[in-house]
Amino acid sequence: MQSLMVPPGKKISLKKDYDPSFKPTNITKEDAHALLQSGIEKMAEFQDKLYAQNTYGLLINFQAMDAAGKDGTIKHVMSGLNPQGCQVFSFKVPSAEELDHDYLWRYTKSLPERGRIGIFNRSYYEELLIVRIHQDLLDRQQLPPEIKNKKIWERRFAEINNFEKYLVDNGIIVLKFFLNVSKDEQKKRFLERIDRPEKNWKFSENDVKERAFWDDYMNAYEDVFNNTSTKWAPWYIIPADRKWFTRLAVGSVIYFTLESLGLAYPTVTEAHRQSLLKAKELLENEGK
Ligand code: ATP
Ligand code: MG
Repeated sequence: MQSLMVPPGKKISLKKDYDPSFKPTNITKEDAHALLQSGIEKMAEFQDKLYAQNTYGLLINFQAMDAAGKDGTIKHVMSGLNPQGCQVFSFKVPSAEELDHDYLWRYTKSLPERGRIGIFNRSYYEELLIVRIHQDLLDRQQLPPEIKNKKIWERRFAEINNFEKYLVDNGIIVLKFFLNVSKDEQKKRFLERIDRPEKNWKFSENDVKERAFWDDYMNAYEDVFNNTSTKWAPWYIIPADRKWFTRLAVGSVIYFTLESLGLAYPTVTEAHRQSLLKAKELLENEGK
């Protein structure tokens, strides 16, 4: 797990240091299913305590190239949890109203409350990725001209690091996953989306257009990891060419994060305990 984490303060090379098709030699696909299943049951217990304790919130950011498996991972890893304590927000092209605000506005509006797990399916990191690669998207943000210079990305790195520090300092834990799919595997999955009628809806011609910017994306992602993997909110780069391993790895990171919080049900005060006993007595004597 440690090696999936981007070490804060170190420079990594996405291409050299992170293999999209990595899988451990000692775990089979069947083992992985069983492990994930038992992990999910335990996670449901953690979630129940998280909700009852109402102190911490957990924000989980998912970033990836198209067809890397964000949707499937979210579906599988969160499957055993109580829907009442979970929320998923998918961020697409910003609306006119959203563009009229500062760039973090729409994300801050959707942050999880204490006690909840909030998933961002794409996140404010798109502001350093797609918006960096397509100048016209930055132009639409109507920024003051003195802000729109080369330093903008450096500034956004710092702003986002500060934003996440603020969240963590206030009890909102931040996890960040990049599902690292290879260009070859993406092609295979696109072809499958075209060939299988029940998957056609998942394919958009725009996906192929974005694929043409693959190298630009990899460079922008690498820059993001090297500048925003911090002690308080590190990045995890998850091998994504094998879906079963992606799900197990993401599940494990979430599991160990929840475990590390030392979650516990709130203990009742003596006065509350007395009132519970009184209520019990009333119930037991009902109709007597
Ligand atoms: P799928 O894997 O199913 O395609 P997706 O997350 O790619 O899921 P889409 O419906 O393709 O979902 O919408 C995401 C698209 O929204 C991105 O490809 C990008 O074009 C756009 N988008 C997301 N965030 C921003 C942003 N901050 N600024 C501009 N465009 C954005
Ligand atoms: Mg898409």
